[in-house]
Amino acid sequence: MQNTSLFISAQELQARLDLFENKCRARGLRVTNQRREIFCAVAASREHPSAETVFLQVRKKLPKVSLDTVYRTLYSLEEMDLLNRVGAAPKERFDGNICPHAHFVCTKCGAVYDIFPPQYDVPDVPREVRAFGNVCRVSVQFKGICKPCRK
Ligand SMILES: [Zn+2]
Ligand SMILES: [Zn+2]
Repeated sequence: MQNTSLFISAQELQARLDLFENKCRARGLRVTNQRREIFCAVAASREHPSAETVFLQVRKKLPKVSLDTVYRTLYSLEEMDLLNRVGAAPKERFDGNICPHAHFVCTKCGAVYDIFPPQYDVPDVPREVRAFGNVCRVSVQFKGICKPCRK
């Protein structure tokens, strides 16, 4: 049984924050309070929060932040490979776990569940895919209705 706690350990979070700071510096981006709070809201949680959830959480600490800024920051963090986007807009969610894994996405409530089957550790890329270029990321999503929604 995998760890089902909603939050990752302090040690794991520190490792993600170190990576975040290193990548920001490498790009010449300032590690602002705002950028760090937005990253942390996703990185500290296993819940795959939506931009709105991140916005509501960050606003408690930084009342001037706008939803637009949160979206823009999340997209830039995704571009930097610090976060992954799961699902499709407007129900998209953000994932701070950049280790390869698959997701079950509920099409009704938008909940996202992590799946860590061993076969996704090293995703098998078909030869046809390689013909188009080099694969740097594989994303596997199973869509359906989650158990709480089926009740
Ligand atoms: Zn659901
Ligand atoms: Zn995930």
